[in-house]
Amino acid sequence: MCRPQAGKSEGKKPAGSKDELEYEFMGPWIGPLGIMAGLPAVCYALVYTCNAKGCSALLGPAAWPVFPEGTKLFTAEALAVFVGWFCLQVLLHLLLPGPSEQGVLLANNRRLRYKLTGVRNLGVTLAVVGYFGFYTQQLNLAWVYINFLPLLSAAVLFSFALSACLYVTSFRKGALLAKGGNTGNHLYDFFIGRELNPRIGSFDLKEFCELYPGLIGWLVVDLGMLQKQWQDLGYISTPLLLVCAFQGLYVLDALWLEKAILTTMDITTDGFGFMLAFGDLAWVPFTYSLQARYLVDHPRTLSSWAVAGILALKALGYLIFRGSNSQKNAFRQNPEQPSVRRLKTITTASGRRLIVSGWWGIARHINYFGDWLMAWAWCLPCGFDHIVPYFYVIYFGALLVHRDLRDGHACALKYGKDWDRYCAIVKYRIVPLVY
Ligand code: NDP
Repeated sequence: MCRPQAGKSEGKKPAGSKDELEYEFMGPWIGPLGIMAGLPAVCYALVYTCNAKGCSALLGPAAWPVFPEGTKLFTAEALAVFVGWFCLQVLLHLLLPGPSEQGVLLANNRRLRYKLTGVRNLGVTLAVVGYFGFYTQQLNLAWVYINFLPLLSAAVLFSFALSACLYVTSFRKGALLAKGGNTGNHLYDFFIGRELNPRIGSFDLKEFCELYPGLIGWLVVDLGMLQKQWQDLGYISTPLLLVCAFQGLYVLDALWLEKAILTTMDITTDGFGFMLAFGDLAWVPFTYSLQARYLVDHPRTLSSWAVAGILALKALGYLIFRGSNSQKNAFRQNPEQPSVRRLKTITTASGRRLIVSGWWGIARHINYFGDWLMAWAWCLPCGFDHIVPYFYVIYFGALLVHRDLRDGHACALKYGKDWDRYCAIVKYRIVPLVY
């Protein structure tokens, strides 16, 4: 669900392709190479530039993390913990009961079934971590803070190794390939993902990685930060509490509505390669937890007014995000149900209708706007001393603009002139009255 993205290229078509395929991400070489080197570099730069020593957007006074002596860039212990964590989530997913849902119709005219145990995995993990980490304190969660750097290295290595396995196994007979990941260019296909739904039996690796180890892992990293601050100060500050609660709600929301991921582009269209694997397993847990890590290194207080304002912003963002996503989902499931039947719509030549009132009459991606407001609410508790904690809100704004353009392009192809008609009625893209 949460991969980092760069721009779509108008680069040349893949050699030998009969389809109207375009290379995304600035073509087959520069973009993939740049992103595969650049994204891990950004993850490390956020640790090296912003840590207990200082927090500067440039490699300057803070340019070496202040962790206890002996902390290394890579340790076998951190790698073992990361792999153990991944295996634990697999095990819980396989053992816990959960509803089974059908995915969309695939190019081979088949539908896959998915076992959904996201909320249960989260519940069991939180119960274990809460009991041993906070109640009996036998589990030192602050270990995550101390070993942040080697854990990040483990996640980066694991993502590359997993992507290599996915790439190699995608050549087996009968594998269903993603349309955009089968260009014949090894580097590009490795990067973008060659196989659409790699599975071991009924265990779907892509859906699992999208939601389980990375998202739940992000929350556990946040909890590690909570415990570190508790150990340092003897209390947990309001800003850190807000950040952890907001991000926890976001993760819970994604897992609670796990079924919704089955119709997203990530699952239905994109192959599973480095881009998604790295985004899910390294990028999300180690960059999205930046605000919590920052607040451990730079504890601060907030006035009651600031707390009230941030809470109100989060509530507004969540209302827009959840309201709009639920409205569209309900409409797509059954447009006659009472909650959506009065919405105004236009009918397209394909027979599919587009909503032009309610949330979707305000902006074409009003759901992105709500998401972005929530991103602000995660960053504002960090105050205004440094810009680095605002990395998420800046990166995410760019990601959402790119995603909006990508989806607009796809909808223009899908709906033709009807999409122009829709755009003439709903003028704003993401931010009402502004963009
Ligand atoms: P959307 O949920 O916005 O879905 C886009 C699709 O919705 C279109 O392709 C179209 O498909 C349908 N649609 C668009 N307009 C209308 C309309 N007016 N009426 C009816 N259907 C319409 O896309 P995403 O999957 O990108 O985003 C899902 C959520 O995930 C968002 O809330 C986003 O903020 C969040 N997200 C979070 C990220 C993170 O890292 N935290 C990263 C990316 C996304 P069709 O017509 O075929 O149904």
